[in-house]
Amino acid sequence: MKQRMCPICEAGQLHTQTEWIDVEHLGQQGRIESHFAECDACGSEQAGATEARLNKRAMIAFKKQVQGLLTGKQVRDLRKAWGLSQEEAAKVFGGGPVAFSKYESDDVMQSDAMDKLLRMADEVPIALERLMAKAGVQPKHTIRWDNVAVVNFTKQKTKLRTVIRTSHSIENEASYGG
Ligand SMILES: [Zn+2]
Repeated sequence: MKQRMCPICEAGQLHTQTEWIDVEHLGQQGRIESHFAECDACGSEQAGATEARLNKRAMIAFKKQVQGLLTGKQVRDLRKAWGLSQEEAAKVFGGGPVAFSKYESDDVMQSDAMDKLLRMADEVPIALERLMAKAGVQPKHTIRWDNVAVVNFTKQKTKLRTVIRTSHSIENEASYGG
């Protein structure tokens, strides 16, 4: 990380420090790690753009937790499990081209509606499939639900044929096959 000169004394270097601070959201108490820069010469404490961004993210992550919304990491894990890029996810679910980048880094909170849609897509694979088809986004890998159905069907069919061959005449096999 590049060194930052203290703008107050113009002699010392700024070093990032953290401290736990008490915060509140919708009446719920919590603690977040707050970042600030401290000068090693004059000892002044300040929050630059870097610290302000980290502090904002920590607060948004806390708000998501309080409101029971998916965390940034959970959104990223879902998107990756679906094989979507951030741009594709925005095409499928809406929110604008940089929406997922912002949800995943805790730069913004997703709406209640977006949160519900993401959970629905996770619980009901056919819903995700439809949304992707409508957005013109091709699945990169076969969706789990599809996979399971195909495998079971093939296994059942094979088993049925084996039974017929060992216990029935050829005529019976033909009627089953039709
Ligand atoms: Zn200083």
